[in-house]
Amino acid sequence: MKRTPLWWRRLIAWFTPRRSLIVVEGDTLPKRLPLWSLVMARDDGEDWSVGLRCPCGCGQRLEMILLKGVKPRWDISVDPKGHVSLHPSVWLRDGCKSHFWVKGGKIVWCE
Ligand SMILES: [Zn+2]
Repeated sequence: MKRTPLWWRRLIAWFTPRRSLIVVEGDTLPKRLPLWSLVMARDDGEDWSVGLRCPCGCGQRLEMILLKGVKPRWDISVDPKGHVSLHPSVWLRDGCKSHFWVKGGKIVWCE
């Protein structure tokens, strides 16, 4: 698939709303992920994974593991306004090869 230009992705990121977090109970994410929100699966008070749709527009479903002791894994934080940040960045080796951060609910593209 042809990649969308970086300036275009940055423009889209600038115009789209900040992403918030939806928490679902259980250890799996719903089949259909919302367009603009991140979804986190929480089971017994333990955060399992977080999912989002690839922000480049390719529609790819991305799932990041939050469990401790698993590699690779991510840290998630939500600020008082409900905006989500992920650490480290998300880098897809296949498909659209998107590389981005989620910071304060915004997609920050890397090149
Ligand atoms: Zn993509």
